[in-house]
Amino acid sequence: MRLTKIICTLGPSSHSDEGIDALARAGMNIARINFSHGDRKQHLQVMERIRAWNEKHGRGLGICIGTILDTKGAEIRTGDTDHPIEILKGEEVIFSPETNERSAKKTIFVNYSGFANDVRETDRILIDNGEIAFDIVRTEKNGDVVAKARGAGKIGSRRHINLPGADVDLPSITEQDWKDIEFGIEENMDFVALSFIRNRDDVEIVREFIKKKKGSMEIIAKIETEQAVENIAEIVHAADAIMVARGDLGAELPFERLPVIQDEIVARCREVGRPVIIATHMLESMIAQPIPTRAEVTDIAHAAMTQTDATMLSGETAAGKHPLLALEAMDKVLRATEEHLAVFRINQPEPVQSERQARAEAAFTLAESTNAKALLTFTRTGQTARDLAKFRPRIPVLAFTDDEATQRKLSLSYAVAPFVMKLDKDPEKTVLQALAHVKEAGLLHTGDRVVIVSDAQAHEQLINTVQLRVV
Ligand code: PGA
Ligand code: MN
Repeated sequence: MRLTKIICTLGPSSHSDEGIDALARAGMNIARINFSHGDRKQHLQVMERIRAWNEKHGRGLGICIGTILDTKGAEIRTGDTDHPIEILKGEEVIFSPETNERSAKKTIFVNYSGFANDVRETDRILIDNGEIAFDIVRTEKNGDVVAKARGAGKIGSRRHINLPGADVDLPSITEQDWKDIEFGIEENMDFVALSFIRNRDDVEIVREFIKKKKGSMEIIAKIETEQAVENIAEIVHAADAIMVARGDLGAELPFERLPVIQDEIVARCREVGRPVIIATHMLESMIAQPIPTRAEVTDIAHAAMTQTDATMLSGETAAGKHPLLALEAMDKVLRATEEHLAVFRINQPEPVQSERQARAEAAFTLAESTNAKALLTFTRTGQTARDLAKFRPRIPVLAFTDDEATQRKLSLSYAVAPFVMKLDKDPEKTVLQALAHVKEAGLLHTGDRVVIVSDAQAHEQLINTVQLRVV
């Protein structure tokens, strides 16, 4: 079993019934739907296909697909244009929310009127995460921003704009995002990934909203602004999971800072047991090519060595030529690296704060010292399984739950293999049923040692136990 989980972004290359089935069988743990693209009707259709897949295969194959709604967020984009705008090196152009017919310079429309104010805090405008960069020359009284191209290129419709270092004046959660989050709650999606958030308040207002709507979506904070990096400590505590969103982060900050920031975020999340995702450009070349570059292979291996919970594919599976080959490549590199994990040290695991956590630690230690083949636990909310995953065991955490939503959410956590099963009132019956199931699935064999975290009947009452058993 692979310990590190894989998230695949679905899109035109993969969101058909056949596409979803192929990715799921090849090891996709979670599907991400990017709400920067597509429309409501399409998102609904994709959700229906995933639900149908889970119903048809989820139980039998012992795997299920969790879902992430990735919000558009406070994103600045260029406007629509009939033909891509040709930019010459050194050319001066105007960025403006309006047409300026008096100027002979080319105008690049921006989708929002606060642009001229925001650019005061930066000296550069980046298009498509830095593919074309402009130096800001001056801001006119009418709000036009004059900028000079550092290199040549073409700017098509709705290209993504970064203003490195600027505190963009758009609300963190836009009107569109609120509508999308409501849709996600209604469709029972498992996670919402919040784009361009800046602090814990951005996470907390969404949590309030989900609670008010009686939803169960968990919140993934995408770290992709300078402010989010500065506020990382409070965001890690406020969110349910973290995504290192390297695409925008590498444009908002000098890209040479990315590797250190990535490792620091992974370490911090592991300290508190918060699931963490490494995202973007992991196999970028495979959007067009059938094999990865050696640098990409090493990047995935690095993520596996730091024992991140999950790695993510974006354009590779959403819009690339080889979605399945990209997933297979990622799966192979993760597995090969997990065979030879060097220990990535985390500074200071958070001290044990509850009996439940203490039991998880004891179970992990017992499993290590006895060479157990698996940890096995029963969990309604998923927390017990996540407590075990925090220790980054190199054996699977077989987690049984009676709640399908918990099963899907656990698909994100390191080493956790989640199963749905009816939990009997008699804990011993439940244990025996679970053992029979994993034996049948070929995950454990007669004679294997397994450490079980479970309730047990003692006289009149149930007590929590850590048990070492032989299958
Ligand atoms: P995006 O986020 O793919 O929605 O832009 C991820 C990133 O910026 O890395
Ligand atoms: Mn982004």
